[in-house]
Formats: sequence, structure tokens, C-alpha cells
Amino acid sequence: MIYIDQEKINNLLKDAQKAESGLLDKILNKALSLKRLSLSESAALLTTDDPEHVKRIFAAASSVKDAIYGRRVVLFAPLYISNLCANACLYCAFKSDNRLIKRKALTVSEIKAQTEWLLNRGHKRILMVCGEEAPQGQDNVDYYVNAVKAIYAAEAGKNKIKRVNVNCAPLSIGEFKKLKSSGIGTYQIFQETYHQETYLRMHPKGPKSDPDNRIDAVDRAFAAGIDDIGIGVLYGLYDYKFETLGLLSHIEHMEGKFKVGPHTISVPRIEPAEGSELSFNPPHKITDDEFKKIVAVLRLSVPYTGIIMSTRENAEMRDGLLSLGVSQVSAESSTSPGGYSTKDKDMAGGQFSLGDHRSLDQIVGTLISHDYIPSFCAACYRMERTGKAFMQLAKPGTIKGKCSMNALVTLKEYLDDFASQAVKDSGYKMIGRYLNKLDQDDQKSLKLFFAHVDSGIRDEYV
Ligand code: SAM
Ligand code: SF4
Repeated sequence: MIYIDQEKINNLLKDAQKAESGLLDKILNKALSLKRLSLSESAALLTTDDPEHVKRIFAAASSVKDAIYGRRVVLFAPLYISNLCANACLYCAFKSDNRLIKRKALTVSEIKAQTEWLLNRGHKRILMVCGEEAPQGQDNVDYYVNAVKAIYAAEAGKNKIKRVNVNCAPLSIGEFKKLKSSGIGTYQIFQETYHQETYLRMHPKGPKSDPDNRIDAVDRAFAAGIDDIGIGVLYGLYDYKFETLGLLSHIEHMEGKFKVGPHTISVPRIEPAEGSELSFNPPHKITDDEFKKIVAVLRLSVPYTGIIMSTRENAEMRDGLLSLGVSQVSAESSTSPGGYSTKDKDMAGGQFSLGDHRSLDQIVGTLISHDYIPSFCAACYRMERTGKAFMQLAKPGTIKGKCSMNALVTLKEYLDDFASQAVKDSGYKMIGRYLNKLDQDDQKSLKLFFAHVDSGIRDEYV
């Protein structure tokens, strides 16, 4: 696989096992000063199983998360626009040879209707997702571009979607330019596995069977000017330590070539998918404790990169991972095209089963009860704080002040427009508490924003 030195990763893991325990203090102190860890330091954290060490890794991850992101957690919903796919990924229900699921590609008006449903629940940020095959007679990128435009065009009262991130198949530089011009936020693509042999086995057919074309998609997206990129591993396909170092090597490649790492990292674990035998019995199933360690080690290794947690995980795991480093969560998701408003019997096939079925309102309520500020903010993207510009603010932790202010404004909008009475009560109390913690100038600007929201204006940000 280009850009990833498989042998080097194996050697790093072998050497890490021999590392003496005094090293842990040194590594954790470096991480606590918000410095990026080297591959061998990350390898040392990944290989320790001593419960005392793991406890200290978790405590450090929690401090780093607070130092960089403060208490805010960004919320979004995935919007699956199509389950047509030309690939045969062994773990996915959308694979081309799966006859068990109903296929559907949403039309522009269906995409708009799905978006309106999400807007009416209070969502402001969408991750658009699809299989790798356009509806008949349409070109992939044109289908994606029209879908993004339909999502931005949808309205519910004064509310509109503020940011559309996209998780779709690799494109050429020219096609990525077209996609960027539709106004996307982050472009997400998961390498799934950084282990060459496993990659080839898991992707037997279709355009995705070429690992080099897939990993190079990130470089092509950068070349096309998309500078917020999300990457990820599908955990369960191969050894988690190798995969995590593979992901971190990929980040080193990005930093070396483009002077900026990924905007976000996703850590999906394989979930049961209809018609995929492998998904019910993943070859390298990881335990909950290993999963927590992965999130904590990533938080310490690349402290300024967002970590996304989807509703694949159950409520308890998701709530627990927030303290270990997760900064964005999805809410109230469906993985079926049309799944947000379709009656069950008409439902197209979903990609995999979900672990967290709480409503957005319940998730907002739970976040508040754990003293996390739910945020629907998309300010950085709109202020062109993307790529390097974002990292310059994120690295020293300066983004935190802006994040908290924007989170509080968007929380008030959500509470005013959509929340249940119980969530309103706890949410307004939280706003009062956090307002009092700000300095006089910030309190003054926030109060002004709140007065604007009270007068009906939506979408204020700094
Ligand atoms: N089809 C495109 C692709 O593969 O890049 C776009 C998105 S695909 C629908 C989104 C992601 O879902 C994949 O990258 C994969 O990591 C994840 N996925 C597939 N099957 C899964 C399963 N059974 N459990 C959890 N995640 C899964
Ligand atoms: Fe298609 Fe993506 Fe599923 Fe693979 S993971 S079968 S490419 S939708």
C-alpha cells in the first residue's frame, strides 16, 4: 500500500513490547503538554495492558480533551442517499452481491424531504453517505453535487443545514473540485484497513479493490483544494495496534506532504450487517476495553484532531468515550436511504445495525446532564477556518474559547426551537452557568447574540 510502510509498523510494535515502564511518564508528560506523539510513543501506549498504565492513559486523554476542546460536543446526523454499490466489501450490507436488501437511490426531492425531517428535529449538520454507484444514467459526482445542493436548499422555518460533510467513494482531482464547489465541509474516506493483505481479501471486486487508489484519494482531495479531510479505520478487520499505527502513519504522510493532518478521525467498529457473514463474526473483534484504549491513545497522539463517534456504539459506550477524547457524535441516525421518514415496510436496506436509538432530544439531555455543551456549530467552516488555519487555532488550544461561545449560542437556538420542556430547563441552566464563567467582554457579546436569537435571528457565530 503506497504511503504506508507495513514492515516499519511491525517493527515498531515489536520494539514497543520491549520498552521499559519508566517510559510511560515521559510519554504522558509530553502528551499533557499538547505535543503530538511519535509513532514509537503511540506504539508504547498501545502495547501496554497494565491496568494501572491504562488508567493513567485514560486520565491523560481526558485532560488533553478538556484542554483543547473544552466541554463542547458537536452533534450531527448521517444522511444515506443511496445504497447502490459496485463493490463487494465483505463486511457491508450494501455489497453488490447482497440480494437480501431492498435497493434505493433517493431523488433530489426525496433528499430534500429527508433533510427537512432532520431540520425539524433540530439538526444543523449532516454527513451525506452513499454506496459507490450512481443511479442509472447519472454520473457519480453529479449525483453527489445535486444531493449536496438539495440538502443546503432545504428549510424548516428559519433553520437550514449549516454544514454538509460527505463520505463517498474516491474521485479524481477534477471531480473533487466539482464536489468542493458544491460547498462541502469535510470529505471523509476510511481506508478500512491499513494492512495490505487484509485489504485485498476484504475488497475482492469493484473499484475499491485497489488499496492505492483509495489511500491516494486523500492526496487528490487535498490537491483539489479540500483541506478538511476525515480518515478512519474499520476496527475488527485486523489487529487494532497495527491499524492504529497505520492510521497514524497515514497522518504523518499527510502532515509531511500537505503540512496539515486530518480534520477528523473516525473509529467505526464492525456491526452486524444483513447479508454479510463476516460482520457477525469479525476476524479481529475488539473488546470494549481495547476500544476505549484506542480512542484515548488517538486523543493523546494527535491532540488537535477531532474524533467522531457514530451511533454504531451503544449509549453507555458513547457517553463514556466523551471523557476519553471524542469530540463529535451522531444522533438519531438511520443507515437506510429514506430511513428518516419512511414507514418500516417500505424501508430500503440499512448498511448495518445501530447501537444507540435515542432521539436527538434525549442525547442533548444526556450531554447536558454530564456537563457537556451540545453544539450545532459550523462557524469554523463558514469563517474559512479550515485546514492549516483551523490547526493553527486548534494546536495551542485557542479554538476552545470560540467553540464554547458558539456552542452556547447554537444550544440556545436548539432549546428555543426544538427541545422538550425537561431539556429546556436543564439547558437554560447550563447556559447560565457557563455564561458566568466568561470574562466581561465575552459575556457582553454572548448576551448580544442571545438577544438576536430572542428576536428570531438564527445562525449567529464568532
Ligand atoms: N461506500 C463508500 C465507501 O465505502 O467509502 C462510502 C461510505 S460507506 C457507506 C461508510 C463506511 O461504513 C465505510 O467506509 C465502512 O468503514 C463503514 N462500514 C461498512 N460496513 C460496516 C459495518 N458492517 N459496520 C460498521 N461500519 C461499516
Ligand atoms: Fe459499497 Fe462502501 Fe459498503 Fe463497500 S463499504 S460495499 S464501498 S457502501
